[in-house]
Amino acid sequence: MERSAFVYTGKYTVDVRLSAQNRRVNRWGCFLLLDLFLLLLIRRGVSCLALARDVCYTRAMRTVTTKRELRAALAKNAALPRVLVPTMGALHAGHASLLRQARELAGAQGCVVASVFLNPTQFNQAEDLASYPRTPQQDADLCEACGVDILFMPDAQQMYCDDQTVSVHESALSSVLCGASRPGHFDGVCLVVSKLFNLVQPTDAIFGEKDYQQLAILRRMVRDLDFSVALHAVPIVREKDGLAVSSRNVRLSAEHRLLAPQLYAALRNAAESYKGGSSVGTACVSVMQQLEKLPGVKVDYVQMVDPVTLRSLSSGEIGVFPTLLAAAVFFGDVRLIDNVQIMSHS
Ligand code: AMP
Repeated sequence: MERSAFVYTGKYTVDVRLSAQNRRVNRWGCFLLLDLFLLLLIRRGVSCLALARDVCYTRAMRTVTTKRELRAALAKNAALPRVLVPTMGALHAGHASLLRQARELAGAQGCVVASVFLNPTQFNQAEDLASYPRTPQQDADLCEACGVDILFMPDAQQMYCDDQTVSVHESALSSVLCGASRPGHFDGVCLVVSKLFNLVQPTDAIFGEKDYQQLAILRRMVRDLDFSVALHAVPIVREKDGLAVSSRNVRLSAEHRLLAPQLYAALRNAAESYKGGSSVGTACVSVMQQLEKLPGVKVDYVQMVDPVTLRSLSSGEIGVFPTLLAAAVFFGDVRLIDNVQIMSHS
């Protein structure tokens, strides 16, 4: 006589054949059945544990607005690595790329801290600060969706004392490119980033290559002031038409929004001609000519610089690699920046 037992363990169906001709086998079969039953319980238990773990690890983002709350949140979440992403809000796909990179770097066990702070000390024009877009609720939603653990959203009173007298000034890289047309801008950046480094004590911090000069200056600041943090750079995120994604793009007129991708197109063309043997001067002039023929468009600067020191190459230089071609251009009253890194001839 032959009997069959079908044991369903959740994933597998096990066919256990028990033969009446061999009682020993039958007895072992019972043990086997018992084993399978226990296995079933354990498997169910394990999947319950996995579920519980997933539920526990579903990240509930904590939003804090004061330094005191930030310290308390960090004390509760002492996990390392601790990765910081400083932003000024009006978050978009470029910021999302930094936040996702932060989550990846921190891993499941680490802690991602994002700051959204419209830093007044880095605006050298009051109108620019006043017209800067503010979207706090969308910012919080995006941070949560990107796996941020702690979102720090202070206001200016929280960040600065009225009689603050200490500044952080980088004196070489800050005087060229955007530093030349926005005096004091990088002092404001260095000040707020130093404060954030001190408050958050991150192991790592992430910045975008969109603000290449900012990144170079912060690298210098970290080196010269011995901040114990590793800086990471994320490539520029662009719209489909090539325009670098920026919080300021929403302020472009419809006409200038259509023209704005020509900034990147002009930089790319110039980079190709430089790779092909054109001089620095020829490449930079070609960018200016391509852009200044557009209505309402005015070039602030186009320069080719050393990617580390930001030393400007002279116009006759040819074939210096790697180099950075950077530009700032007004489309109406909206100032856009962009850059391309030129690594080698090929
Ligand atoms: P902001 O909010 O403009 O201060 O930018 C915060 C960070 O996001 C900076 O490190 C920027 O370089 C970076 N970022 C802004 N736009 C982009 C972009 N299109 N691609 C990559 N990073 C970006």
